[in-house]
Amino acid sequence: MGALFDLRTLFLIGSLAGGICAVTLFASRRIHRPSESALAWAAAAQLLFSLSMLMISLRGIIPDWLSVVLGNTTGPAGMIVLYESIRRLCQMPPRPGFAVTAIAAVMSLQILLGPSLDLFATRLQITSAIQGGYAALMLPLLRRRLPADPRVPMLCAIGLAGFFVGVHLTRLIWIAAFGAQTSPDGQFAAGLLQSVIAATFTLAPMMHAMVLMSLVNGRISADLRRIATTDDLTGLATRRHFFGRVRERLGREGSSVAVLMLDLDWFKQVNDRYGHKIGDRVLVHFSCLLRSALAAGDHAARYGGEEFCALFERATEEQVRGAAQALCDAVRASPFEQDSLTIPITVSIGVALVREGGSVEELVSIADRRVYLAKAMGRDRVVDRTSARRAAAAGREHASLPLHSAMV
Ligand code: GH3
Ligand code: MG
Ligand code: MG
Repeated sequence: MGALFDLRTLFLIGSLAGGICAVTLFASRRIHRPSESALAWAAAAQLLFSLSMLMISLRGIIPDWLSVVLGNTTGPAGMIVLYESIRRLCQMPPRPGFAVTAIAAVMSLQILLGPSLDLFATRLQITSAIQGGYAALMLPLLRRRLPADPRVPMLCAIGLAGFFVGVHLTRLIWIAAFGAQTSPDGQFAAGLLQSVIAATFTLAPMMHAMVLMSLVNGRISADLRRIATTDDLTGLATRRHFFGRVRERLGREGSSVAVLMLDLDWFKQVNDRYGHKIGDRVLVHFSCLLRSALAAGDHAARYGGEEFCALFERATEEQVRGAAQALCDAVRASPFEQDSLTIPITVSIGVALVREGGSVEELVSIADRRVYLAKAMGRDRVVDRTSARRAAAAGREHASLPLHSAMV
């Protein structure tokens, strides 16, 4: 085993890999604003690991103070900085002062131990206890504080931290049982454990950087998905997302699925009289009423401006009409209230059954025509297939009414 691995070369490669990963993470820190400081701290951690492996790889070539004392300070310091990076990634309050104090304590301890190789085993144990301890501290943060969307990078991060807890624990137990393996000249020993651990440390920068980047990329895509599917004012779905939902229901038999278009009445007057800020709050208030009218399997979205749309699934057409009417009544009965201000609101609703149209666009256009019909009939009402036909018939009888059959 020892003949297979040249430890000095391994550590040197690990140092170079750490340096490359540090530069990559630092250069990528702006790809996601909320993760920026986590990436910057992760880059600093990688730099410290890289420095540690460089110092260790040069043992015997550079003074022992540098290779032994500094090398064993920068490694644990890297882990402390990495922990700070994980705190930031988990959106926890930063504690840079705590990190600096911990690093100063580690440095004092290493200086106290000095470069003497007599304390080789003790130093390894201290280093492993600090690094393994910090990896263990990361585990609950990663499990409880890291958003579970996406899940796989989160599980990889937990796996990686757990793996390093295991590595350091194994080293601690091994040293306690068999002592540290060191060669008589104090240079690199090539025992099994040293080789495996050196190989692990060499690969660690790449493992860390890859897991971190996939976490950040996962966050970026989750953010983009949220932005693309959620209306930021009301929290309802966007029309694009809603259309996707309706497409899933097209052609489904056995129940009455309906698309509703909802348009607030005289909303421009609300803005004109009370301002856009109040207007926005009225929109939020209406979206809450709409949301509370949804049954399991229903969906609602903001179509744009003061227009909304919904997908209702009921057993019969009458039940769809009843649910739409109940919503219309609830809106009328629930004016917007703030301090001493009360703004009555009403809504006009057009209903199109999914079986009436072959595509989402067609359904929306049928429901939309019925909204206009509801407006023409005096607003604050529901117009569906039945009431539209009735209105068209009445319109033909009284030619003066603007209810043409084209609007049905
Ligand atoms: P109608 O009963 O015929 O629907 O009349 P209306 O006033 O509701 O319709 P109109 O289309 O004339 O006006 C819609 C208004 O909705 C105009 C615009 O200022 C307002 N609006 C659109 N989007 C927003 C928004 O995001 N916030 C606020 N506050 N107002 C909005
Ligand atoms: Mg409108
Ligand atoms: Mg309107």
